[in-house]
Amino acid sequence: MKLEGKVCIITGAGSGIGKVASLLFAKEGAKVIACDVVEENLKKLKEENESIDTYKLDVCDRSAIKKMVDEIVEKYGKIDVLVNNAGITRDALLLKMKEEDWDKVIDVNLKGVFNMTQAVAPIMLKNGKGSIINTSSVVGVYGNIGQTNYAATKSGIIGMTKTWAKELARKGAQIRVNAVAPGFIKTPMTEKVPDRIIQALNEKIPLKRMGEAEEVAKVYLFLASDDSSYITGQVIGVDGGLVI
Ligand code: NAD
Repeated sequence: MKLEGKVCIITGAGSGIGKVASLLFAKEGAKVIACDVVEENLKKLKEENESIDTYKLDVCDRSAIKKMVDEIVEKYGKIDVLVNNAGITRDALLLKMKEEDWDKVIDVNLKGVFNMTQAVAPIMLKNGKGSIINTSSVVGVYGNIGQTNYAATKSGIIGMTKTWAKELARKGAQIRVNAVAPGFIKTPMTEKVPDRIIQALNEKIPLKRMGEAEEVAKVYLFLASDDSSYITGQVIGVDGGLVI
């Protein structure tokens, strides 16, 4: 039980990596607070493990975040782990990208991480400890055709991660902030990618395959647990060697 007694918030928990992580964290003894915009998926998650608390929450809605954080603190007295996992894509080439698609991806993927962390960090600071895990991407390190907006958010997450690792650890607080940079993972986000593109991508990956959501969730687990107690400000690639 690597997370016994820890109170952990996971955003984007209704699907893909966030869902697998919520179930894994609960299995490891955590009190999981799973948030997502899609209520129906949260209901399904609850059916799989009823110990998980679910919240319909949009990471863009700052007042709803505050309300949720206040409720969690009232109920459990602390927040040990925040996994900023929610993310979306609205892909288009630079010359065709609509302003609304730029704005939406920045709002969810970048400002959403800021909103959640700004609300949770004071609780961790009061407690003197905590672990924040942000979800970047190989695209934030490497760039990708058709993903100007997404790449901007995932690079921005790396900047915020390193800044918060320095800022939140002041005055001796053991608050660690790290990012995970997944490569090409089998989830609903990637299921529409055509087979020929998957095959071409697999050729570029040293391990020659896509990753499983569980392979990312296990790295979240490591970073959430005390096993990573001296790791902060890092970006951990989970990409089969795609970026070396
Ligand atoms: P997914 O689409 O299966 O899951 C994303 C979840 O986020 C969904 O349940 C969705 O409803 C939720 N969400 C969307 N907007 C939200 C909002 N405003 N507030 C709260 N929740 C919201 O995708 P996934 O592949 O599991 O992605 C999880 C994270 O991993 C994302 O940040 C994504 O960018 C990142 N990532 C994924 C891959 C990949 O190959 N799948 C690669 C690199 C990074």
